[in-house]
Amino acid sequence: MYIKEKQASKVQPIDCRHFINGEFVESTNQKTFENINPATELVIGKVAEGGEKEVDLAVKAARKALKGPWKSLPSKERSSILRKIGDLILERKEELAALESLDTGKPYEMALEVDITRAAYNFHFFADYLTSLGTESYQQDDKAIHYSIRRPVGVVGMINPWNLPMLLLTWKMAPCLAAGNTAVIKPAEWTPMTATVLAEICKEAGVPDGVVNIVHGFGPDSAGAAITKHPQVDAVTFTGETKTGTAIMEAAAPTLKKLSYELGGKNPNIIFADSDLDEVIDTTLKSSFMNQGEVCLCGSRIYVERPVYEAFLDKFVSRTKELEVGDPFKKGTNVGAVISKEHYDRVMSYIEIAKEEGGTIVAGGGRPEHKEKGFFIEPTIVTNLDRSSRCVREEIFGPVVTVLPFDTEEDVIEQANDTHYGLGATIWTNDLRRAHRVAYQIEAGIIWVNTWYLRDLRTPFGGLKQSGIGREGGMHSFEFYSELSNVTIKL
Ligand code: NAD
Repeated sequence: MYIKEKQASKVQPIDCRHFINGEFVESTNQKTFENINPATELVIGKVAEGGEKEVDLAVKAARKALKGPWKSLPSKERSSILRKIGDLILERKEELAALESLDTGKPYEMALEVDITRAAYNFHFFADYLTSLGTESYQQDDKAIHYSIRRPVGVVGMINPWNLPMLLLTWKMAPCLAAGNTAVIKPAEWTPMTATVLAEICKEAGVPDGVVNIVHGFGPDSAGAAITKHPQVDAVTFTGETKTGTAIMEAAAPTLKKLSYELGGKNPNIIFADSDLDEVIDTTLKSSFMNQGEVCLCGSRIYVERPVYEAFLDKFVSRTKELEVGDPFKKGTNVGAVISKEHYDRVMSYIEIAKEEGGTIVAGGGRPEHKEKGFFIEPTIVTNLDRSSRCVREEIFGPVVTVLPFDTEEDVIEQANDTHYGLGATIWTNDLRRAHRVAYQIEAGIIWVNTWYLRDLRTPFGGLKQSGIGREGGMHSFEFYSELSNVTIKL
């Protein structure tokens, strides 16, 4: 561990209880499940296991709080509470980053610089954004004036994944609270700790009881499903797998909930011969293996224009082999452990599928030799696969990428779009016209040219096709977390 000694001694894993109506509580039946550190395979704590009862209590608290002071607070005051949450996250950032790393297996350094820093920024950003919100008004000649009023949606259910737990939770929570809603949150079962600390932070920052509620537990037939079918939940925002999105849509249909979905991806990373290969490789290492490849936006399908294919592959393979895989708390570790044994087996099974499909493993392909414990997988590069191969088409969500050559712009666009996903894409070229032309034709919600993962929170974020429904970010978040009514005044 290289966190400063003073802080390291403080960072102990925590047991996680639900947070309902401003209090930490056990499940009504006292049920708990174990929390496992994926880097050591050791049990590091217990987590209250909620179900329908706990969700119902949380929804009742959230419903009651909806009638309370939160939504009618002057926006300046709500904004300053949100700002305070961001400040408190930064004050406790080493502790939060350590908990995030213990839960997920990701490098502590990444948790600190990306997950927790961005989580604080989510609150700071929406605290500011809230104070600049306006509504529309129209004058209809001398007949009438029309104007819109903005109201909270109500009780919002939030169902979260395990890969970027705090970053993605705060990405939903900040605009949800900014718009005056109340929330019932279910963190992923693998990563309960930072959400639990966040509840404490919200209370300290002055969020009234019942506005933020957290119920820990599992998805199907458990807390997740209970949120999606609860008749008093008005909207559900979900980030996770596309197939889970289908189940949630079915459960939410009878009460016609408003839905926002951020789902899976199998994103193309397209490298034209005229790009700067050193810059491409520096960024491609991140877009392939950051967070063990467990980022929905990772560019796991790499397409390289044939004249630079060999040169790219040589450099990319040798740089990949230099990546440090191992102890998330060791300074300089690039790749930590994947989330669970189940996920480890799944990712490893794709490496076997790649071999069966005739692929060549040119880097990685297994467990690092020096690691006996922990769900560690070497960063893996597969070549020689056919475009119809399962490894090219299915989301692996681990440190495994495929590299395929292409010959023409038309061909690579067709290959890039040949998927039911449409989340992200990266295009590398120094030809300005081509950059615009290709970006326009790629079917993805988030397209980067000559960069990756660069975000501005005012921009629309979300996926096309089966990668999502709706957009979040800036005004788009408020469109989901608030409802507009039109008022017409006859003159
Ligand atoms: P997952 O769908 O398995 O689980 C996500 C959450 O849904 C968990 O909290 C889980 O308990 C809950 N859940 C599962 N089944 C449920 C059900 N039937 N009803 C209600 N809740 C249910 O996803 P995951 O494995 O945690 O996350 C990985 C996936 O998330 C990948 O596909 C990845 O691409 C996607 N993801 C997308 C984005 C994005 O912004 N588009 C961001 C991060 C992750």
